[in-house]
Amino acid sequence: MISILNGSRWKNELIKVCIDLVKIRSLSGQERELAYYIKEKIDEFGLKADIDDAGNVYTMVRGEGEKKIIFDGHMDTVPEGRIEKWRVPPYSGKLINGEIYGRGTVDMKGGISSMLTTLKYLSEKNLKPKSTIIFLFVVLEEIHEGFGLRKFLEGKGVNPDLVILGEPTDLSVATGQRGRVEVEVVFKGKIAHASMPEHGENACLEAVNFIKSCNEIYSFSWHPLMGSETLAVTGVRSKTYGEPVVPDACKVSLDVRFPLGVSKAKLIQKLRKTSDSIGVKPFIGVRKLKIRSYTGIEEEVEQFFPSWIQEPGNLLNKVLKAIRKGEERVETKIWRFSTDGAYSKGIKKIPTVGFGPGKEELSHQPNEHVSVNQLFRAFKVYLSLATQI
Ligand SMILES: [Zn+2]
Repeated sequence: MISILNGSRWKNELIKVCIDLVKIRSLSGQERELAYYIKEKIDEFGLKADIDDAGNVYTMVRGEGEKKIIFDGHMDTVPEGRIEKWRVPPYSGKLINGEIYGRGTVDMKGGISSMLTTLKYLSEKNLKPKSTIIFLFVVLEEIHEGFGLRKFLEGKGVNPDLVILGEPTDLSVATGQRGRVEVEVVFKGKIAHASMPEHGENACLEAVNFIKSCNEIYSFSWHPLMGSETLAVTGVRSKTYGEPVVPDACKVSLDVRFPLGVSKAKLIQKLRKTSDSIGVKPFIGVRKLKIRSYTGIEEEVEQFFPSWIQEPGNLLNKVLKAIRKGEERVETKIWRFSTDGAYSKGIKKIPTVGFGPGKEELSHQPNEHVSVNQLFRAFKVYLSLATQI
């Protein structure tokens, strides 16, 4: 087992870093202040951090061997939502009964705190890892997971042997996730005066019928580890709104989470079958989006993120062994949400696992909070992973 001398000192360190991180609001595309805070912090440890073109912060600790491991954490958070739903101000980082409250504590400034403290420990104790360790703190993950990681790997020509994601797992080991796609379904009708709706074709009514049939007709895939595919309507918008006309266009936005074995083509085909069954022919396509980092890098991206699983085998066994030196009883799980693993493992086939403090279900919620105890235990596990693999 990994043992940390003077544990309470390191706990205080974790509390301080986590509260500092929470106090710096860092919505997607607005991570600059946080990035510079993290960079300065790492520099203070006597290591050297840099910021790449996309705005990601990274530092490297050279190991004895050839292998490279990336510890990945995203700096951005979703907005706080309705303020009156919070018990404490969302960017206060209040410590109450051993829990730190605030936006991002779980997703995922808690994980970043444990990673930064690992770096400090490595530097202070002059520990040499077996593999070269890269700590990477990325931008824009909440909008387009994998973007920051891809920009870093492509920009620096790095080809890691393992990616460790610090997203919340409640100290389990995440070995996969469902995929995610944002779909736009556009219905076209015929405009008419609202006093004579019989002369028009109301695109909104087609949209409503389609939404109903998604529950009744759409065939949801299922996977023994990942469970069922889910479909959420995330928006309905008509071209004309409230004027005395029958709307001639209506867009339905869907967020579909799917297990292994569902491709983009298969998904569109299933939605097509659903609309066919009610006799409508909408346009169905994956949402495209222009994203922009705080450094000014712009890119048009498609909102499709494949599902992935880290298959059992030598590498996973090695990772589990190292993790168990920090946290004796760990179980494996599959994330419900989507992460940078959609890129690292889903697209690039780089071995990927997740381990982080905090409960996944508290992400994006008001009163998001993480326990100091979990921050400390995650720190121990990261230390073990950084030195044992
Ligand atoms: Zn996250």
